[in-house]
Amino acid sequence: MDGGTLVKKIRKDGKDVYTCELCGLGYSDEETAQACQRHCSTHNACSLEITRKAVYFPEPD
Ligand SMILES: [Zn+2]
Repeated sequence: MDGGTLVKKIRKDGKDVYTCELCGLGYSDEETAQACQRHCSTHNACSLEITRKAVYFPEPD
């Protein structure tokens, strides 16, 4: 574990998706999810560079 940034792993359509716990967006690789989570916690906002790679968007309820 580098940096100790834990992202949540969920299963979506038979694929593993790693989600940023802060913004809820999901990524197909853990590294990008960690980058998102790091960015979200540091800047309190998402990075467009990162979120454009998102493969999962949480449904509002
Ligand atoms: Zn995020």
